[in-house]
Amino acid sequence: MIATLSGWIVRCRLSCLLLAALALVVGGSSTFAEAQTRPEVRLVLQITIDGLRADLINRYERGFGKGGFRRLEEKGAVYTNAHFQHANTETIVGHATLATGTFPSQHGMVGNVWFDREAGELAYNIEDPDSPIIPTRENASKGAQVDPAQKKSRTQGRSPAVLLAPTLGDGLAAYFGGRSKIFGVSGKDRSAVAMAGKAGKAFWYSTNTGDFVTSTYYYDAYPGWVVQWNARRLAAGYAGKAWSLLNDPASYLLADQDDRPYEVDLKGYGRVFPHPFGQTDDPLFFTRILVSPFGDQLLLDFSKALVSNEELGQDEIPDYLSISFSAVDAVNHFFGPSSLENEDVVVQLDRILADLFAFIDKTVGLKHTLVVLSADHGMADMPEYMTGLGFKAGRLEPDKIVAAANQTGQKLGVNEVVRFFYRPYLYLDDKKIAAAKLNRVKVEQAVADALTDMDGIALAVAASRLSAKDTSPLVELVRNNHHVSRSGDIYIMQDPYWFLFDKGPVKAMHGSPWRYDTHVPIIFMGPGIRPQRVQRRVHPVDVAPTIAALLGMSPPGAAQGSPLEELLR
Ligand SMILES: [Zn+2]
Repeated sequence: MIATLSGWIVRCRLSCLLLAALALVVGGSSTFAEAQTRPEVRLVLQITIDGLRADLINRYERGFGKGGFRRLEEKGAVYTNAHFQHANTETIVGHATLATGTFPSQHGMVGNVWFDREAGELAYNIEDPDSPIIPTRENASKGAQVDPAQKKSRTQGRSPAVLLAPTLGDGLAAYFGGRSKIFGVSGKDRSAVAMAGKAGKAFWYSTNTGDFVTSTYYYDAYPGWVVQWNARRLAAGYAGKAWSLLNDPASYLLADQDDRPYEVDLKGYGRVFPHPFGQTDDPLFFTRILVSPFGDQLLLDFSKALVSNEELGQDEIPDYLSISFSAVDAVNHFFGPSSLENEDVVVQLDRILADLFAFIDKTVGLKHTLVVLSADHGMADMPEYMTGLGFKAGRLEPDKIVAAANQTGQKLGVNEVVRFFYRPYLYLDDKKIAAAKLNRVKVEQAVADALTDMDGIALAVAASRLSAKDTSPLVELVRNNHHVSRSGDIYIMQDPYWFLFDKGPVKAMHGSPWRYDTHVPIIFMGPGIRPQRVQRRVHPVDVAPTIAALLGMSPPGAAQGSPLEELLR
């Protein structure tokens, strides 16, 4: 028996080894074949449409031409059920997630701003005093800042220094021995910087000058082609002009949603078409350009100059270009996602995408380009729009949230228990809690319970709850958003269609864990990608690992997502 068994073991060893070797050859060849399936990719073109909720593509299809969204729908793999898995659906959070393939708990970008506990003040996500923006012109007048996150920045310097996880671009740089050219450009600094990662270079639109700028993190001085591009003063060319509808007004689904009292008038920009930009000496002039299709048009023009001058996609080493278009989000914030302005900016973006694809086809060849399109978050309809339709909705102001939290603290014996509040996080005053000799976790939980009882708040989640085995879906989203030193002690989650509102000029918002904020498109188009519509649930953390797999690379270092299997078959 023993002899037979040992004989079998010997035989098995041999045959199993053979089988294993065969499996290695077969499996190995498929793995390596996978790596070799896209040797034709010379350019990865990652497009992010800021604030493009997934359903807006379907909603506005009637106004689309050929070659833009229709090209993506016809030639691409379209994932119709993609949702972010973090609670605070804001711009830097979404971009960093797309770039790194992991959650804010890992990449550290938990919000556009967070409270710096050590310094005792708010921090803007990509601020960096060591990397000042390189000036593009002397005596540039300072434009008025309407971005509530930018207003919190303590310095004009910008870099990815506090992004804690490697990006896809960083992976490309490492894999190809530094030979891959990596760029991130956008209407917004944070969207360019996050996607460029540590190894790439970033340029973004300045609302002070209408120029595209960068910081000393990336360059000592502007490349000649950027100097030349800025010298053309394209943004200033819109002085005295206005944003008008592209198509026949009657052809728009939302033709009746132009003049609504709750839209924001940017001091003369108006609530109805046409929207006049004013003159360049108006502090809001260059901002208004960004709140129109022309912000994206300028970004398109700058991107073309970049592709030509940096000679992207001209050899067998894949280059990477991230373009994050900001106009849809900017228009959403002032007019809402169910406005005539929103419909027109998406329709005009469709033409801009068509122009971009035609240009890439001519310069690089679409057959050599892996196009990936997604968004950093969706967008919520304004409470006023929803109440008009019969929903209960409203705006929660920070003072009221802080007052309710302090009231609970008072009952427990702590005067002003709130150290700081900036949506969605509430930070408690540890020193005061310790001085009152109270149990910190109990205080945290008591305040969270009291806030959960407020009208308009769905759930306030105490950080201490995140380490417990609470697997309810909403808590999971907060957990994925929780970075131990940057996140607050209590995460405040509004009811659907309610806003955590900071009384700024921005009227429509995103940033909730609800489906209108988490639902984004994911579309892949390029060599070897079979046109298809995929309904299964997927996530933006899968995007970077998928691009990496298509190039035969390992996923970015901290990635939690998985390659989308339909694209690797
Ligand atoms: Zn955004």
